[in-house]
Amino acid sequence: MSTILHSIFSVQKGKCRFNLKLSIITLVAFVVLSVTQFGMAAEVRNIILLIGDGMSTNQLESARIVKGAPLIVDALPVRHRAFNASADNAVTDSAAAATALATGERTNNGMIAVSPEGRNLRTVLQVAKDVGKRTGVVTTDAIHGATPGAFLANTASRSSSTIITEQAVFVSQPDVLLGGGMTAFNEIGALERLGSTDYTFVQTREQLLAWQPDGKPLLGLFATGAFAFAVERRATEPHLAEMVQVALNALANDDAGFFLMVESARIDSAGHSNLIRQSVYETLAFEEAIQVALEFAEKNPDTLVIITADHETGGLMAVPDASPQVMSKGVDVVTREIVTALNANPQADLRSLFAQYAGISHVESQAIQGTVSEFVSGVLSTRSFYYTTGGHTDLPVHVFAQGPEAEQLLSVNHLTDIGKLLHKWVQEGNGGHRP
Ligand SMILES: [Zn+2]
Repeated sequence: MSTILHSIFSVQKGKCRFNLKLSIITLVAFVVLSVTQFGMAAEVRNIILLIGDGMSTNQLESARIVKGAPLIVDALPVRHRAFNASADNAVTDSAAAATALATGERTNNGMIAVSPEGRNLRTVLQVAKDVGKRTGVVTTDAIHGATPGAFLANTASRSSSTIITEQAVFVSQPDVLLGGGMTAFNEIGALERLGSTDYTFVQTREQLLAWQPDGKPLLGLFATGAFAFAVERRATEPHLAEMVQVALNALANDDAGFFLMVESARIDSAGHSNLIRQSVYETLAFEEAIQVALEFAEKNPDTLVIITADHETGGLMAVPDASPQVMSKGVDVVTREIVTALNANPQADLRSLFAQYAGISHVESQAIQGTVSEFVSGVLSTRSFYYTTGGHTDLPVHVFAQGPEAEQLLSVNHLTDIGKLLHKWVQEGNGGHRP
């Protein structure tokens, strides 16, 4: 009897040891794998969060087609999706989605970093500032736009442009604040009161590019409201990538690190107006800004770069055999080119004109109904992504990341989960400068 008991005990003890050994091996293997896949584990000292407003799968895909190559984000180690419903609507707006990212909490559409009941929610930028990090906001929207607003202010309505501007410039006061919004800025007499702050103020691209970091905070406002589309850029407005470069120059080299939010705002505007060409070039301008952020991270490996969005705009639909020429120039422009060529030489072969101006080698022969121009435009339209709404949709958005702790983003399900991680990181990775 005792022999039997003894042998059972030995077997169980042996199994127990075996399992423990197996667990240790698994743990070591996991750590080794994680370190090799995502780079050396380091503290999250700097965070660059880049938001493509209105950007989801087909905004990215159309930019990829026109670029004719994979996008930079396609090569990042973390590629994931996140849902974005707000507290009161399956289809979020930028205010509720940015609140989710900035605070980790769901709120109603239209609300800026307050709960549905109107309670102020601390934003990751405000917390970063509290723990002694530097902070920055860069946008091609007005600084009081819903996305930057949800990082810089707390108010029940996204349309309170003067309240958001007041809180941004005189309360939250990030070390770098670049965007548009001069009208609201003037409405509160902010220019006259700027002397009460340490801000250096610039208003043109030239002034921005000439600015040298001097340890003082920088405020740049380059448009009355939002910036023009990148394809129609005004000479006084800097490129998004240029603003990101200046912001990084200003925020770098601080032991406590920084939190920087960058918004490419006008992918959303292009979606609302159903302008595929503008959408493509806004997304490619965003890509240039992402490149600047990743180059900084390469030299500063304790930098976590996250690229995501708030929601999709326009219900953009893909088509097979999309033409890069048609999407980059627009159906109207290519139609004009083909019709002009045909008018100049009525004997020209229409098929070869489609090939020459639109890269289209296959056109189904069909009876021409309406004018030649209508026929050409009809054919070209079938080779371009098209919009199905002027509003937002409930599609999930992408989450790309690189840097320390980036793999934690693979577990997020909703934008609020990203917000919660951001709060954890700014509080943990404060470089030991907790006040
Ligand atoms: Zn929108």
